[in-house]
Amino acid sequence: MTAAPRTEDRRHVVVVGAGPAGLAAAGSALAAGARVTLADAAERPGGQYHRTLPEEFGGPRDGGSHFARLRRRVLDHPHCTWLAETSVWALERPDPEQPGPPRVHTLTGPADGNDRPRRVLTPDALVLAPGAHDRVLPFPGWELPGVYAAGAAQALVKGERLAVGDDVLLAGSGPFLLPVATALLTAGAGVREVLEANTPKTVAAGWTRRPWQLAAQPAKAAELARCTALLVRHRVPYRMGRTVIEARGDGRVEEAVTARLRPDWSVVPGSERTVPVDALCVTHGFTPQLELPLAAGCALLRTPAGEFVAVDADQRTTMPGVYAAGEITGIAGAPAARTEGALAGWCAAGGDPAAPALHRVRRNRERGRAFAARLAAAHPVGPAWPGWLRPETVICRCEETDYGTLRSAATDASGAAPRVIKLATRAGLGPCQARICGPTVAELTARLHSPPPGRPAEGLPPAAPHRRPLAQPIRLGELARTPDGPEPDPKESTA
Ligand SMILES: Cc1cc2nc3c(=O)[nH]c(=O)nc-3n(C[C@H](O)[C@H](O)[C@H](O)COP(=O)(O)OP(=O)(O)OC[C@H]3O[C@@H](n4cnc5c(N)ncnc54)[C@H](O)[C@@H]3O)c2cc1C
Repeated sequence: MTAAPRTEDRRHVVVVGAGPAGLAAAGSALAAGARVTLADAAERPGGQYHRTLPEEFGGPRDGGSHFARLRRRVLDHPHCTWLAETSVWALERPDPEQPGPPRVHTLTGPADGNDRPRRVLTPDALVLAPGAHDRVLPFPGWELPGVYAAGAAQALVKGERLAVGDDVLLAGSGPFLLPVATALLTAGAGVREVLEANTPKTVAAGWTRRPWQLAAQPAKAAELARCTALLVRHRVPYRMGRTVIEARGDGRVEEAVTARLRPDWSVVPGSERTVPVDALCVTHGFTPQLELPLAAGCALLRTPAGEFVAVDADQRTTMPGVYAAGEITGIAGAPAARTEGALAGWCAAGGDPAAPALHRVRRNRERGRAFAARLAAAHPVGPAWPGWLRPETVICRCEETDYGTLRSAATDASGAAPRVIKLATRAGLGPCQARICGPTVAELTARLHSPPPGRPAEGLPPAAPHRRPLAQPIRLGELARTPDGPEPDPKESTA
């Protein structure tokens, strides 16, 4: 019998993000015999999908679900270090010529706390699973108080039991509208109507092609059925081919202007309707959080649904020792994220990629990818959406840059480069550092640019909305300080 390896001899896998993808990655890396450090900016594992009210505030006791069992198995494992409330704010490649994953810089403690311990982890392999942001396209009045990203409204319900209003209109595109409506109704909010911007024809064409593939997603189908039944019970209309094109109000949202849309999301003239509301929730899909993969040097893949981290059959990125899983490789929902995480963690830990137990995981991963493609086809963002904008419509809410300013900078005869446009208009330079407006500014700039496009500044990589040296906000004092100590030992968790 061979002795089990000593803790310090085990391969050290660092997993960033403890959502469905990251938690599954940690579980399978531990199963493959690695030592794991799992870090998440949140207090508890779960990510966006498993967000709940804490038990100490009356949240549900969940001991029996697959998620609860996995969480216990990972956090109680003797070779796992769980770093709660720990932000990975930078990845550093000390020598870009050297193979191996980058060093991982962390800060532990509340985002607004002082003296947060600062650490540097040196993994043998790194799994990135930081998830996505929800995307909201701008329209006149979207900056008014009372207009929420649907994800934010849902987070308030799931994490705080707060309903954003009594008379809520929910608009945008994608199946995510349904769990948000469900969450709002369960929290006691009145939901006036749910508007899917894509026409029935577009949605049906995306979902009904190869219907047998959907049979492979029983959990999603059951979730969809539950949400639909609740909408029916509360008599909430679900309309397609209609959206919100303007929010109005004196100091906060009081009414929404909705309009019928053509398949390209241009407005059908004369179809406008004004609806009184006290809150408006909007979602136009998700954008992957690409700061960390870009900092690690990973290549991206351009797809019809946007740019994602390119991975091979083992979830390996183009950077040696760096794996990616979950929403950063494609938007396909929690079950797909879990499957990718399981594969990434196993391979990062040095597990045999041909192990028979992986056959089902790989098959499920392929189904997840097929589901992502269908989702993208059924709920695309129509190219004519900028037609909703007016010159005074705010594009970057932090810096209050409007569309007119962006348009004149982008169409400047000198053909300014994206970085110059950013400096000239300040779009993306505020506190959110383009996390909200970045994809929109990049899309509008690319469309408005008078050819030939501006040259990238010499010696710098091409401008990209997610390329920033610091992945998370950090105080200057914290940046200036030297790291506090060595890597934590297993079981020296921060929860
Ligand atoms: C706001 C929002 C709400 C959503 N709600 C639903 C829903 O109700 N139903 C549904 O089917 N799908 C929902 N989704 C889609 C959902 O994200 C996925 O289906 C699933 O949760 C993806 O899993 P993941 O592990 O890839 O990412 P996530 O679940 O997003 O997990 C990523 C984790 O990484 C952590 N993280 C990110 N960056 C860092 C960093 N730099 N340092 C440390 N930790 C970091 C985050 O705190 C988070 O816990 C939602 C998405 C968003 C953006």
